[in-house]
Amino acid sequence: MRDTLRRPPPTRRSWAEPFRIKMVEPVRTTTREQRERAIREAGYNTFLLRSEDVYIDLLTDSGTSAMSDWQWAGMMLGDEAYAGSKNFYHLEEAVRKYYGYRYVVPAHQGRGAEHILSRVLIKPGDVIPGNMYFTTTRLHQELAGGTFVDVIIDEAHDPASEHPFKGNVDLDKLERLIREHGAARIPYLSIAATVNMAGGQPISLANLREVRRLAEHHGIRIILDATRIAENAYFIQQREPGQENRPVAEIVRELCSLSDGATVSAKKDALANIGGFLAVNDEQVYDEARNLVVVYEGLHTYGGMAGRDMEAVARGIAESMEDEHIRARVGQVEYLGNLLADWGVPIVKPIGGHGVFLDARAMLPHIPQTQYPAQALTAALYLDSGVRAMERGAVSAGRRKETGEEYLPKLELVRLAIPRRVYTQAHMDVVAESVYFVHQEREKIRGLRMTYEPRYLRFFQARFEPVE
Ligand SMILES: *Cc1c(COP(=O)(O)O)cnc(C)c1O
Repeated sequence: MRDTLRRPPPTRRSWAEPFRIKMVEPVRTTTREQRERAIREAGYNTFLLRSEDVYIDLLTDSGTSAMSDWQWAGMMLGDEAYAGSKNFYHLEEAVRKYYGYRYVVPAHQGRGAEHILSRVLIKPGDVIPGNMYFTTTRLHQELAGGTFVDVIIDEAHDPASEHPFKGNVDLDKLERLIREHGAARIPYLSIAATVNMAGGQPISLANLREVRRLAEHHGIRIILDATRIAENAYFIQQREPGQENRPVAEIVRELCSLSDGATVSAKKDALANIGGFLAVNDEQVYDEARNLVVVYEGLHTYGGMAGRDMEAVARGIAESMEDEHIRARVGQVEYLGNLLADWGVPIVKPIGGHGVFLDARAMLPHIPQTQYPAQALTAALYLDSGVRAMERGAVSAGRRKETGEEYLPKLELVRLAIPRRVYTQAHMDVVAESVYFVHQEREKIRGLRMTYEPRYLRFFQARFEPVE
């Protein structure tokens, strides 16, 4: 109490979330002994922990958002007809209105849409350039016979670079690639907004316009990964000259208008617990995608989602584009990131849209990358406080398709992903304090050895043990 009284009077006006809390879900704290047992049993992989053993869950912002009362009300209006559910038409309407694409193919989540798109557009031997890989996106491109090539600007690979648009495409790299392989071997450019693996970093409108010009010149499609495009649009509004007075929704529409289609995981921006879709303008591509969706996902009017889920997605899309919402969402991420930066913890700069990314390479120079420093740091953080984060480094990067050797990416990160509308500022304080204490004791953290390695997307299920 006395501490509160001693605080100096305010010198600023704070912002707050544009909602109040109507329903709560208890979370459980655990003892150090319980956490030691839990992480050992999970093979030092936070994906293998039970959610009940987690206090504050920052594993992912995917499907973990809190839905609004309006979304929950929509759940009760689920039309569970096998064919032609009215909720599908609401979803289609929302996609057309907010993203602007003509045709919508629903999918159970983002990777379902990626699978179908990759099968429709990629032929064996094709090359797919993009602004940094994403795990599931690249895998589906490879499974369809393609090879992903990273053409993001170099700054994206440098955690300390303060470049405001680290998601930008390096146009020289892209042009060289087109010259080398020929436009006929490039079915589309795979452009993410924002770039998850670079730390939630945006692409600028100016850069995407340039990319569009180049792509059009060569007759190459652009497919967006629009999973977090509202966050990207917010950064454009905040950082790009001339964009400061435009609503986020308007910027999203323009970004989409510079592309030919998009794959979307509705579990991120769109505030739903499950769902996704593929959206395109080309009728022929739509036709083939609609053909394939019945094989892998479900009929073209549900694609693996229940009617109620499609309604939640449709309403979530509308809410995700509200300036007030997105400002509070990114604002909370920035609150956590600024605390950590102020306390000297090395994080990726600028602070990203969906999470704060710790630079494990800078924090743990005594652990070689072949002993997975970011993985070791996630385990240490869980042990300290029950906060669950995720590795985004060598384990996530996996192995080269051709040679089988491990990628050792420049970015060796721990991601603290913030679910939308779920945690309070006090939770962020607890997280920041735990990261700070782990950082203080960082010399004690040891590396890990992988004892079980799955063939695909190994980060989800791999097991480890500490090296001596
Ligand atoms: C989560 C994600 C995906 C895949 O979506 P899922 O719904 O998890 O299948 C694709 N791209 C990006 C950038 C993502 O963050």
